[in-house]
Amino acid sequence: MTMNSTGRPTSLSAIDGDVPTQTVSGSKGLLQAEGLLFEIGSTQKTGVDLPAPKGGKDRLGGVTRTASSNLPGLSEPEAMRHYVRLSQKNYAIDLGLFPLGSCTMKHNPRLNEKVARLPGFADVHPMQPQATVQGALEVIEELAHWLMTLTNMPAVAMSPKAGAHGELCGMLSIRAALRARGEPNRKRVLVPVSAHGTNPATAAQCGFIIDEINAAPDGRVDLEDLKSKLKDSSDIAGIMLTNPNTCGLFERDIVKIAELIHAAGGYFYCDGANFNAIVGRVRPGDLGIDAMHINLHKTFSTPHGGGGPGSGPTVLSNALAPYAPVPFIVKTAEGLRFVEHHSDAPDSFGRMCAFHGQMGMFTRALTYILSHGADGLRQVAEDAVLNANYILARLKPLMSPAFEGYCMHEALFSDGFLKDTGVETIDIAKGLIDEGYHPMTMYFPLVVHGAMLIEPTETESKAELDRFCDALASIARRAVQKDPSLKSAPHLAPTKRLDETRAARSPRLKWTPEPPTLKAAE
Ligand SMILES: *Cc1c(COP(=O)(O)O)cnc(C)c1O
Repeated sequence: MTMNSTGRPTSLSAIDGDVPTQTVSGSKGLLQAEGLLFEIGSTQKTGVDLPAPKGGKDRLGGVTRTASSNLPGLSEPEAMRHYVRLSQKNYAIDLGLFPLGSCTMKHNPRLNEKVARLPGFADVHPMQPQATVQGALEVIEELAHWLMTLTNMPAVAMSPKAGAHGELCGMLSIRAALRARGEPNRKRVLVPVSAHGTNPATAAQCGFIIDEINAAPDGRVDLEDLKSKLKDSSDIAGIMLTNPNTCGLFERDIVKIAELIHAAGGYFYCDGANFNAIVGRVRPGDLGIDAMHINLHKTFSTPHGGGGPGSGPTVLSNALAPYAPVPFIVKTAEGLRFVEHHSDAPDSFGRMCAFHGQMGMFTRALTYILSHGADGLRQVAEDAVLNANYILARLKPLMSPAFEGYCMHEALFSDGFLKDTGVETIDIAKGLIDEGYHPMTMYFPLVVHGAMLIEPTETESKAELDRFCDALASIARRAVQKDPSLKSAPHLAPTKRLDETRAARSPRLKWTPEPPTLKAAE
C-alpha cells in the first residue's frame, strides 16, 4: 500500500475486500482530520482585508520589521473550522461518561457557569481596592464557612490553587508547627504505598523523608506495619493518608491511626481528593486530622483537566491554624479585609501565590453548594458510591475486583481475569476508545496489578451506566476469548497506538518549516 508522508494510504483500492479502517483523507466518519495551523495556513493569507496604510508617520523609531514574521494566515472560515475540528477531538464530560478514577470528572452544572460570569465576579481584579470587592470577599468567606462546617475544622486556607498545592500548604503548616515546637528534626513522614504520587512528592518538596507503609490484603493501611514504623517515633513528623483511599476504600482504622500519630508527636495530613465520596456523611475533623485539602474541582464540580484551573482550599486544625499562609480574610468594622503581609501574621509560614486563589472556582463551588444544600451534598456522596457499586456488581462476574466487598466512589479491578489471555490492561483501555469511551484510569494505584480504576460520579443515570458496562463487558469477554484484534485496538480512532514514551521523552514542541518526514505516529 502506498502511504503519504503522514503514514496514510494514498489509495484505498489497496485494501482488498476489507472494511476500511483507514481513509485517504485521514478523516473518519464525520470526524475531520486536522493539521497544524502552520501546515494549513500560509504566510500569504489573512483573515482581514484592510487596504495597506498610506503615508502616516512611522512611530516605531527604526525598529520596523523588515522580514516576514513567518506566521501562518488563514481566512476566517478556515480558522473557525480549525478550532472547531480540534474541539471535536476532545473527549469531554459533556459528551459521555468519563470513567477516570481518582480524577473525579464530574458534570459541571451550567448554573455555576452563569453565576461565575456575572459582572462583579467575572471581572474583579485582584489589585482592586478591597472596599470595591466586598461581594467577592463575601463569596470567599461564605465558601470558607461551608468548607469548615462540612469538615468540622476550625480554619481554612483558601489560596492554594490545586490539590497538590493544598498538600504543600498543609505540609508547610506542619513544618512550621514543628519548627515552632523546637523540633525541626522531625523529618519522617509516613505514606501508604497506595498514595497518589503527589503525596510523597509534596513531602519531599518540603524537606521531609518518606517512609512507606504497606497495604494490608484488604487494600487498607496495614496497621501492624504502621505501628512498627512508630516504634522509634522521635523523628516522626506525620502521616499523609487519603480517605477514602485510592483503592476506593474507606480507611476504617482512621481514628486509631490519628491517635497513634498524635501519640508519636506527629501531625495527620489527610488527602481530601476523594471527599466527594463522604461529603455530608463524614466530617474529617471528627476523625482527628490536622490538615486536609479539598479539591473544589473534584468534590464541588468546577471544571478541570487540560491544565485548567483547580482549587485546593486546605482546612487546618487548631494546632496548625496559626501557621496558615497569607492572605486570609478577617472581619473588621469597615467590612471584610485581607491580611496580606507576613508582618501582620508573624506565625504564618508565608505566601503561596501572588493573589487570593481561584475566584472563578470559588464562585462555581459556592453556587454548587448552595444549589444542592446540605442534604443535596449528602446525596451527591451517596449517589456517587451507589453508582460505583453498581458498576462493580455488574462487572464482577467478568472482571476481577481488586478487593472483596463494597467500594466507595470508584470501582477497582485488577488484571487477574486477563491471565494467560495475552491481553493486558492497556488493550482493554484501547478497546474502550473504539466503543466511544475515554479509558478508565490504568495501572494506578500501583498496589494493584494491572489496575483499572473506574469512577462514574453521581450524575450518571442507570441507562448510561448500563451502556458503559455493556461496552466494557463485551471487551472483557473478547479478552477472555483471546480476541487478537484487541491487541491492536483502537481500530476506529483517527490515530491508533501512539509511542507515548517517545512523545513524553522527546516531544516535538516547536514547529520547524520543513519537518523531517515522519512515519505515522501509530
Ligand atoms: C487529584 C488528586 C490529587 C491532586 O490534586 P490536583 O488538584 O490534581 O493537584 C491528590 N491526591 C489524590 C488522591 C487525587 O486524586
